[in-house]
Amino acid sequence: MKFCSECAAPIEIRIPEDDIHPRHVCSLCGVIHYQNPKMVVGSIPIWDIAGEAKVLLCRRAIQPRHGYWTLPAGFMENKETTSQAAMRETIEEAGANIALHDLFSILNVAHVHQVHLFYRASLLDMNFAAGVESLEVRLFSEQEIPWDEIAFPTVAHTLRFFFADLKQAQFKLHEQDITQTLTANKS
Ligand SMILES: [Zn+2]
Repeated sequence: MKFCSECAAPIEIRIPEDDIHPRHVCSLCGVIHYQNPKMVVGSIPIWDIAGEAKVLLCRRAIQPRHGYWTLPAGFMENKETTSQAAMRETIEEAGANIALHDLFSILNVAHVHQVHLFYRASLLDMNFAAGVESLEVRLFSEQEIPWDEIAFPTVAHTLRFFFADLKQAQFKLHEQDITQTLTANKS
């Protein structure tokens, strides 16, 4: 950000009075343009085939990580709830009709200013299809998941948590901090 969105004057980076963080402050009108983490919200859509859970993954048609596999997820919109965002992203990227269940994972990606949330979900039918941001969508059993081609660590962690909980037949909420060099498991 270089110019104020209120008055178009140049922005300067400084620590405002009574604050401890450097902020984007307008040099003319003094408005502080706060920058806060973005929410990325998605779902873990499951189709149960003869007692075996298969998860719906999307192969990305966009950067970053073009060609890699991901759970349907994306940036939350203003005036939207987290569950609405998860439903919308699942429809947009996978054309999938789902019933949304409990919140399953919260992943802090502090170094890129993001928080990722995933909800468990059930596919209501097999009428899914790749949206404009996906090259293809398909179901994977745990053994079929292309672990080396998963787009983001948040998705890999969420999938591993999911299949571990599935074996215990008990789902709990998982919190994980993703760092650039190592990960710290909190639950
Ligand atoms: Zn201004």
